[in-house]
Amino acid sequence: MLNGKVAIVTGGTRGIGFSIVKKFLENGAKVALLGSRKETVDQALQKLKQINNQYEVIGFCPVLHSENEVKECCSKVANTFGKIDILVNNAGISSRTRLEDYTEDEYDKIANLNIKSAFICSKVASSYLKDTKGVILNTSSMVSIYGQPSGVMYPVSKFAINGLTKSLARELAPFSVRVNAIAPGITETDMVKQLPKEVIEPLITTIPLGRIGTTDDVANAFLFLASDMATYITGEILQVDGGARS
Ligand code: NAD
Repeated sequence: MLNGKVAIVTGGTRGIGFSIVKKFLENGAKVALLGSRKETVDQALQKLKQINNQYEVIGFCPVLHSENEVKECCSKVANTFGKIDILVNNAGISSRTRLEDYTEDEYDKIANLNIKSAFICSKVASSYLKDTKGVILNTSSMVSIYGQPSGVMYPVSKFAINGLTKSLARELAPFSVRVNAIAPGITETDMVKQLPKEVIEPLITTIPLGRIGTTDDVANAFLFLASDMATYITGEILQVDGGARS
């Protein structure tokens, strides 16, 4: 579905991002995965090469909210693979801190990674994406629909991601660049796998499809929206949450 396409995936070293990278490679794309540390980037690259050593995949660890570092990274990707067709803004951290316990540092950390990085990466990549009539995909969350009872900056950042998605969809539509977001429900990443049964089971009862999503469930939605199957879809926030709505 992505033969000949070139993709950048932030937060591609593990969890949902790693599944997106794998899915894109399986479907013929060349991929640059970005992570926070060289060590984890190298581990992810090694894992992918073990699956298939023909995969065309490279990795970098720029500071994602630094315009200069992201510029340098995008130009390395374009020099290596010739162009950029797809940007996935997936890197993100969550929070459970109570309002009165928030520090300015924690506010800045979440805002910088979850919001500013997606803004900077979209800004820098847009000139490449205009050339290829490309695609921006953002990882939102179910909390962007109805909030959560603590860690307020996490849902705030995901509401911002939805705003970025809807507004850039309008701004970039004249250049045939599509911008969409996927809003996953609770997804079985390493962190979720470690939660005890007593925490997981009550959560499952709130999901109509009766199970937690897999990273593959979520990556399939990214694949669809990145592909030419979705050429008339832009400004969409696609919920991938087993029907959970409250
Ligand atoms: P994860 O913690 O497993 O992976 C996070 C990724 O982000 C890693 O690749 C990591 O290298 C990268 N990252 C973290 N800090 C970084 C930094 N400072 N600079 C650059 N990269 C950094 O997380 P995940 O659960 O796979 O989450 C991925 C995205 O999905 C996030 O945006 C998250 O908000 C969203 N999400 C996750 C769930 C879930 O249940 N897991 C649900 C809804 C939305």
